[in-house]
Amino acid sequence: MRTNAAQLNAIGKRGRPKRHWGTPTSKQRRRQEQDHIAAISILKTQGYREYLRTDHWRKLRNKKLKQIKLCEFCRRDWNLQVHHHTYERIGCEWLRDLVVVCDDCHEEIHAYQKANRWMTLTQATEAVRRLHR
Ligand SMILES: [Zn+2]
Ligand SMILES: [Zn+2]
Repeated sequence: MRTNAAQLNAIGKRGRPKRHWGTPTSKQRRRQEQDHIAAISILKTQGYREYLRTDHWRKLRNKKLKQIKLCEFCRRDWNLQVHHHTYERIGCEWLRDLVVVCDDCHEEIHAYQKANRWMTLTQATEAVRRLHR
């Protein structure tokens, strides 16, 4: 079945606890698990680019940018991007799965990971963060 952006928009809205440190009920956990599985299947059929065009992502991105208004690595406050350091919870992300970085630092992270394929994206992100200290 082909999925569309509207279906993808619905992902992550249901049953997500307001705070990531809150203990979800078993019903919420089941929903999260379903959303997670659905998001993965949509990503496989439609791709990450399609995911980034959804309302779900736009809202999440804006929420993160309201929290952090500078590049977390070089402190620039322009050309900001919201980077996933893990895709583990894609579709029902925690805010701490996301990192605010400028264009340049963002490119650096992905180039670093390409050059160090054995690293997870989380490890590569942290390595580049350390380079900027
Ligand atoms: Zn990224
Ligand atoms: Zn930067």
